[in-house]
Amino acid sequence: MTGKELTEILEDSSPERTAALFAEAYRVKKGTVGECVYLRGLVEISNICRKNCLYCGIRRDNSSTGRYELDSAVVMEAAGFAAAEGYGSLVIQGGERTDRKFIDKITELLVEIKRKWPLGITLSLGEQPEEVYREWFEAGAHRYLLRIESSTRELYEKIHPVDSVHSFGTRLRALENLRKCGYQVGTGVMIGLPFQNAAHLADDLLFFRSMDIDMCGMGPYLEHSETPLYAYRNLIPSKERRLELSLKMVALLRLLMPDINIAATTAMQVLAPDGRERAIMAGANVLMPNLTLSEVREEYQIYQNKPGVGEDAALSSSSTEERLRKMKIPIGYGRWGDSLHFSKR
Ligand code: SAH
Ligand code: SF4
Repeated sequence: MTGKELTEILEDSSPERTAALFAEAYRVKKGTVGECVYLRGLVEISNICRKNCLYCGIRRDNSSTGRYELDSAVVMEAAGFAAAEGYGSLVIQGGERTDRKFIDKITELLVEIKRKWPLGITLSLGEQPEEVYREWFEAGAHRYLLRIESSTRELYEKIHPVDSVHSFGTRLRALENLRKCGYQVGTGVMIGLPFQNAAHLADDLLFFRSMDIDMCGMGPYLEHSETPLYAYRNLIPSKERRLELSLKMVALLRLLMPDINIAATTAMQVLAPDGRERAIMAGANVLMPNLTLSEVREEYQIYQNKPGVGEDAALSSSSTEERLRKMKIPIGYGRWGDSLHFSKR
């Protein structure tokens, strides 16, 4: 598919053709990675961040949120919970921090977790020097998520401050460094941003293919009142449209890259209670139930109205599983669910 064709499909509003697209993506998924959905327990380790992304609720300059960092013991407890529940993997996500104390803490946690449980570990801790990526890989992490946010440099620069800490070039190099270190590399974008059109999204899909990514996590942009981008909220598509565009992006990516892992992201669930399930029906095959303890979860609000805030780990994960069971979707308990694309490379 060309950029023009992808743009046309993204702009098309026919419900019949959209339903056919989702069905085709599901069929392709079933024939390549299979119907199984893999679970990764998500731990939001800290909302302290050195960056000031214009869209994000935990950006450095948002002084209206309290800041926290989970103790290692709490992370270990969450990892133990994930292992006991038969989740094959854990995702450790957080604000971008480059202080040595934090880097060491992650390294030690990785070693400890791998010593105790056979979990696959994904990190999502922003841009780091190549040596740090290597250190964490050697300590046991084997997948990394770093969204490009938008593959169009111009748009990237509209949603980030323009300075050396928020450089598009650095982000691209970080993705390349992750690959060099041996990670399964995941990236993604936000969908429905101010200043973004369907052609940008089509370019994002082609970017994923040209980067030969192993995993993808994308979701709707959700406005946050304590951020600068909130001023442009009148420029964004309706909630329905943002969800539909997000689902179409999942489906199109499944057609373009049949054997990668694609996440049904939490942000989709904010726009519709069954948003993640709909993403699975449109070609996604990975779910990340949130394991962050309820006391701090409210403070990790990268966007507002996050579902599950106030729910405890066991509850939120069991409601996810309950819904999948009802849909008769098989769950890959106890399996890492690595990217098939990566294993073939
Ligand atoms: N600090 C790390 C990981 C945490 S943020 C990083 O930036 O990579 C994880 C993702 O949350 C970001 O990549 C971004 O795509 C998403 N995000 C942030 N603010 C958002 C918003 N307002 N709406 C939707 N997604 C958002
Ligand atoms: Fe920090 Fe990530 Fe939010 Fe940017 S998107 S402000 S790097 S947590």
